[in-house]
Amino acid sequence: MEVYSSRIEVRSGKRVEVRDITREVQARLEEAGIVDGVLFLFSLHTTNALTLNEGEPGLMEDLKRWVEEAFARPDYQHDRIDRNAAAHVAASITGNSLTLPVEEGRIALGAWQRILHLELDGPRTRTLIVKVIGKK
Ligand code: ZN
Repeated sequence: MEVYSSRIEVRSGKRVEVRDITREVQARLEEAGIVDGVLFLFSLHTTNALTLNEGEPGLMEDLKRWVEEAFARPDYQHDRIDRNAAAHVAASITGNSLTLPVEEGRIALGAWQRILHLELDGPRTRTLIVKVIGKK
């Protein structure tokens, strides 16, 4: 059993941004050289999120719009100190980690599944931890 650790930095240019990071995560798995096991992806932040969905540009735009509109409220208490309560709430609902199966040296994703990073309070640079545990 081997354990591999690495970090990925995700830079955003806008306040809300959806980015397909599947290729970066797969590259870390290839660096790890683990062919069978589990890949754990974890964000060190409270106003971004990780999810699996299609990387289709229209859907990514829909997700971005939904995040911007669904969580908007004029009366958040946290906004008195930080003006980003909607981002915190959206991050909590979406989640900040993914646990993914590794098979034959690949992340075993469904045909349409991509790893999406949701920036909810950018522009910022985010750090994600990648842990891969398994057999070489
Ligand atoms: Zn805040």
